[in-house]
Amino acid sequence: MQQEKETEQQVLDAVDKFLIKIKPAVHQLEADDEYPEEIVAQMQEMGLFGAVIDPKYGGLGLSVRTYAKIVERIACVWMSLTGVFNSHLIMAMSVQRFGTQQQKDKWLPLFASGEMRGALALTEANCGTDLQSIQTHAKRVGNNYLINGSKTWITNSLHGSCFALLVKTNTNESPAHKGMSLFIAPKGPGFKMGRTLKKLGYKGIDTAEFFLDNYALPAENLIGLEEGHGLQHALGSLALGRINVAARGVGVASAALKDSIQYSQLRKTFGKPICQHQSIQIYLADMALRVEAGRLLVDSAAAAFDEGKRCDMEAGMAKLFATEAAMKNSTEALRIHGAYGYSTDFNVERYYRDAPLLAIGEGTNELQRIIIAKQLIEKNPL
Ligand SMILES: Cc1cc2nc3c(=O)[nH]c(=O)nc-3n(C[C@H](O)[C@H](O)[C@H](O)COP(=O)(O)OP(=O)(O)OC[C@H]3O[C@@H](n4cnc5c(N)ncnc54)[C@H](O)[C@@H]3O)c2cc1C
Repeated sequence: MQQEKETEQQVLDAVDKFLIKIKPAVHQLEADDEYPEEIVAQMQEMGLFGAVIDPKYGGLGLSVRTYAKIVERIACVWMSLTGVFNSHLIMAMSVQRFGTQQQKDKWLPLFASGEMRGALALTEANCGTDLQSIQTHAKRVGNNYLINGSKTWITNSLHGSCFALLVKTNTNESPAHKGMSLFIAPKGPGFKMGRTLKKLGYKGIDTAEFFLDNYALPAENLIGLEEGHGLQHALGSLALGRINVAARGVGVASAALKDSIQYSQLRKTFGKPICQHQSIQIYLADMALRVEAGRLLVDSAAAAFDEGKRCDMEAGMAKLFATEAAMKNSTEALRIHGAYGYSTDFNVERYYRDAPLLAIGEGTNELQRIIIAKQLIEKNPL
């Protein structure tokens, strides 16, 4: 326990030092909207691509509680960076949790070192929430699967080299999820990149579409080696993604709060700093409350994940609350900053552009409400 606490502190200190160094560059990096190669290399050096991967495969083996703290800190400085290693770790988690021993031995060291990086590839042009409607399909041919279809909105797909790819291995199954499988899919012949998508925020990190045209994968790349568990494996790993997105929400919400606390003491109207006006005080108090409450929900969901408990309700609650907190805090920070909140000279407009992604990614907030309600009924039957 003591050892764990010390490791956590060392990692958090290293992250804080890294953030102090990069912070002055963020404003320009955001404006340039280019992949931050140098920073990503530093993140690789710090071991972040293996943050929650077991040390026996070369990872840092951090608890998800510690991981969430890292994510919050990074998101407070530049949310885009959290996407570089979060989607990658969801992919890694699907192998760590559901892969065979051989798959873990082969892939996890490559993921932990960051030599091979990637993401979770679920979404298609016609479906994001309704994943059972995906059309990408894989047909077994001898020892291979031949895959055809396409994916879109996949973070890291341009700069990444490997994906946890959700496909249908049987299009006739009912319910459809019984015909879905998750593959470890490195780029190769038949894997063709499409457009890089233009976004409101989340700049610097690539989100793109790709096409699979008779793309062949060895059968040994089917996670768990058994067809029909793909959706379950993807959703099992997504709990980590939801905790991460929730932690990002806390990070963005707290960045908006910090900037507002500072600005409201500097800006004067009617002879006094605006922090002395009651309406601004109400904003600040509500913003702080959201940050604290969001942080507690994230920690509680992360603790449940660490204990190996089913935590879709906890992760859903944390994701819903903390990301709505990011939306509200960024809007209120904009109000507090007046015209300067609308200016690209200040960071507040970035928080305002970044926050909505959090309400969409890793399952929309509408979906989180459905998950929470279903769990409430399941846990409290008549
Ligand atoms: C910047 C960015 C990065 C992304 N990165 C990735 C990635 O790396 N990998 C990946 O696989 N995907 C990624 N996505 C896609 C994301 O996961 C989907 O956009 C998300 O799941 C929602 O799907 P959709 O956009 O198709 O919306 P839809 O599913 O079409 O939903 C549209 C609206 O209807 C609501 N809705 C849908 N069904 C219901 C229902 N049953 N009840 C009530 N409301 C409902 C939704 O909440 C939403 O408000 C990314 C998206 C963005 C914007």
